[in-house]
Parts: sequence; C-alpha cells; structure tokens
Amino acid sequence: MSSGLPMPCAIRNLPSYQLPAKHVPQVIIEINGEKDGEKRTFSTLDLIEGTAIVTVTRETDLGHVDITLEGTSTTSASRAVSFVPGRRKASHKFLRLRQPIDHIQETHLVPGQSYRFPFSFEVPESISSQQCDHSTKDAEVEQAHTQLPPTFESRSSKFWQSTAGGWAPKACRISYKIRVVLSEKSQTTTSTPRSKLCDVSRSLRIMPAAKMTKALDCPLHYLVHEKQSECRSLGRNLGNLQVAAEEPRQIQISSTSTGINTGSTSAVQLHFTFDPTTNTLPPQLCKLRSKLEVATYYGTSPWEDYPTTEEMECTGTDREAYVTTTPLQSLDLTSMQWEKLPSFYSAKVKSADSASEYSVSSSGTSPGHSYTVSVTVPINLPDEHALVPTFHSCLVSRTYAIDLALSYQVPSAICKSTMNLRIPIEVVYGR
Ligand SMILES: [Zn+2]
Repeated sequence: MSSGLPMPCAIRNLPSYQLPAKHVPQVIIEINGEKDGEKRTFSTLDLIEGTAIVTVTRETDLGHVDITLEGTSTTSASRAVSFVPGRRKASHKFLRLRQPIDHIQETHLVPGQSYRFPFSFEVPESISSQQCDHSTKDAEVEQAHTQLPPTFESRSSKFWQSTAGGWAPKACRISYKIRVVLSEKSQTTTSTPRSKLCDVSRSLRIMPAAKMTKALDCPLHYLVHEKQSECRSLGRNLGNLQVAAEEPRQIQISSTSTGINTGSTSAVQLHFTFDPTTNTLPPQLCKLRSKLEVATYYGTSPWEDYPTTEEMECTGTDREAYVTTTPLQSLDLTSMQWEKLPSFYSAKVKSADSASEYSVSSSGTSPGHSYTVSVTVPINLPDEHALVPTFHSCLVSRTYAIDLALSYQVPSAICKSTMNLRIPIEVVYGR
C-alpha cells in the first residue's frame, strides 16, 4: 500500500481509544548468590534457591502462584526451501520441576507491600526417561538423551561475555529458567481456568557435572584410532607407515564468575610404526598440525543414534551440523629418532590372515625388523574458547575431536606425503 496517500480527515482526527489496561503485578525473581548481573553456574545436585518478590500498584486478588524450573531445547532448520518436506522448527521441554506451594498466606495484595515466595530446586542428575519417547538405536543412546544437557546459547547470548564463547549456532538453543506464573482468584468453581495475571521468568546457567557412564563410551567414537599408509617411491612400495592414537584424557572445564569456561590441558599419545618391505630407512617425520573440531548437530526431529557428519550427507532436511575448526599448535618432528625393533614386521604378517585391514602388501623380502617412535601432542586450548561439555540430547548434540595432519618424507620420494587422523575427545564439566 502506498504511504503517500492522505488519510481521510474523519479517521485521522478520531481520538485514540485506550482499552483499560489490565493490572499486571511486578515480579522480581532473585537467585541467591547472583548479584550485579553476574550469573552463577549451577551444576548437578546444586540447590537453586531464591525468592519471587511480588508488588502491585492496585489491589489484586491472588489465586495461585506457580514457580517452576524449566529446561527447553529449541531447533530450527536453516534449509529454508519451502517445497522440501520436513519440520522447520522443534521445541522440547525436557525438564519441568514445580515448587510446591500448598497455601498462600495472603491472597489480597495491596500496594505498598511486597510479597515473597521462596523457592528451592535441586539440579537433577538426569531427566525422566519419558522425555525421550522416540525410538533410539539402543538403550545407550536413550541413556545419553536422558542426561541433563548444559545451557547452550549462541555467541550473542548474555551468558557468554566473551565473543568467542558458547559456540552454539543460532539455529539451536538449550535454556533453563525459573518461571513464575501468578493467576487470579477463580470467581466461580475450582474447575474454571484461572486467568493469568503475569508470567515472568529468569534464565539460569546450568553445566551438568561429568557422569561416568557408558553412554559416552560409544565404541564407534571412542576406540583407539589407527591408520596406515603405504610409503611409495618411484612406483615401489617401501613399506607401511602406521600411526595409532591412544584415547586422549578428557578436557575438564570449569566456570569463572564471568561465565567463561576454562579448560584443562590434554594430550594425544601417538605411536608410529614403519614396517619396511625392503632394506630402506623409515620416512622422515616432518610436521604435525593439530586442529580442534567443534561439531554441533541439531535437528527438528529426534536423533535415533549418535550423530556423525558422515550420516549427514544422506539424511533429510530436518538434520543439520555446524562444524568449526580452530588451529592448535604445530609440532616440528624433524628431530624425532626412530627406534629399530626386530621381527615386528613378521608378527604383523602372521596376524594378517584374519584381519585384512592389517595386511601388508609386500613387494620385497621382509627385512625382519621395524621402526617405532612415539610422540606426545599437547592439546592446549586458547584461553578465549569457552567450551560446553560434550552432550547428546534428543534434538541437539555437541562433540569435539582433534584433527591431526602428519607430513612426512619418504626416502627418495619427490614430494612430502600427508596422513590425517581424527581423534574424538570428550569435554566434561567439573569444579
Ligand atoms: Zn531422545
């Protein structure tokens, strides 16, 4: 509609009619221990205690006070293609605990007075299994979904005062709040729905403590990782380079008063083995680059299994992944010295009959010895990176991995070669 047309005078000059404003009581929700805008971080079994303080500017008959601790996850699909089927948004209220208020002392509220309603909630260890009511691949996935997820907000959230913090894409969110609903006194029978006077909430920051369960010990994700590569030069196979990584120690994060999580250090232990097929020297290890991969998986329908990026390629429009990588330190390995061991190659060949993945394609006579060297790759996260714990919930998952890229020089080869290895790492919250 064009905005340049003049408004008819009769309409323009009509006095605006104001509907009588409904009186809304003012509610301030105080959380014990939170002041000056600083958020406390609550963890498993912590008590969230506080008071809802109610004031009115007009005499009001109060019928009911409902104080709840609620946890909700919301997701939206960003692939906004209208003709593609699938849900665009989803919301899951996975936690709702009610403060019992059996009897209100004063139901006739008058101006000038303040009325206090204390509350106390214990952060539960897990949520009801009924909250994960969809089909799952196995009981382990369901158990992971019934663990309490952490507060998970986007970078712009007030919870994360560092610009690099949070790392949640805007398309998904997990939030906790104390909610206070005041209702009028019912004028007729008790079955008549009460009219809501106000609905006020205050957000909370919850970081559940690590729980030693099998849920995160999924064999798909947390095996010791191994990779091997043929070392070739001028068309000849000189041997096999193999690297095995031990499962790294968890990164333990803790919160500061400004809401930033600081992480402990960890390390990846790598064991290299070179099995020559001829009397050749092992490759020269050159450089090891490491990156932290942070993956957020979210969907508008529940996940039935632990999500992986491999699965994403063939799934529908209701599942998405948001993956970021941050370079960590690089290691110069040129001074690493191989240790020569006897007979390792022979033992490998013998075991190759039943495990083809370990078979060694021999193009020459076994020299009867192999070479090994071990390297410790430190994982020091940059200070500004505020992580949340690894978690898997019905709609949202967060995982971490260390991506390693090893460059090495095969003797007499023209170019350097590269071997990549991805090692999942778990982040847990602890105090
Ligand atoms: Zn679930």
